[in-house]
Amino acid sequence: MKDYVEDKRLREQCVLEEMIRLYCRKQHPGETMPGRACCPDCQDLLEYAKSRSQKCPFMEEKTFCSNCKVHCYKPEMRQRIRQVMAFSGPRMLLYHPGMAIWHLVCRLQNKRKR
Ligand SMILES: [Zn+2]
Repeated sequence: MKDYVEDKRLREQCVLEEMIRLYCRKQHPGETMPGRACCPDCQDLLEYAKSRSQKCPFMEEKTFCSNCKVHCYKPEMRQRIRQVMAFSGPRMLLYHPGMAIWHLVCRLQNKRKR
């Protein structure tokens, strides 16, 4: 069970990273720091999002886009991650179909539970 949770955590962080990178590439072109995937602001957001995911006590039962995730963000970061999700969410299907499908499956599972 623990492995499953850790795997889920890693995947979540991986999706977060892809989504933030994609957002930054399109929204902040030319601001990328040398040797980094995104600009300093997006890097901050990514670090923050990853640290939240790392500490999340609900990893086992939650799905990727469950609201609990957004609730533990502080308001400023919540605002920013929402923008990223709104922008990158639909585009993930284009760039990373595998991840997008997994994300979709999570959402469906979540709906069924409710
Ligand atoms: Zn950026």
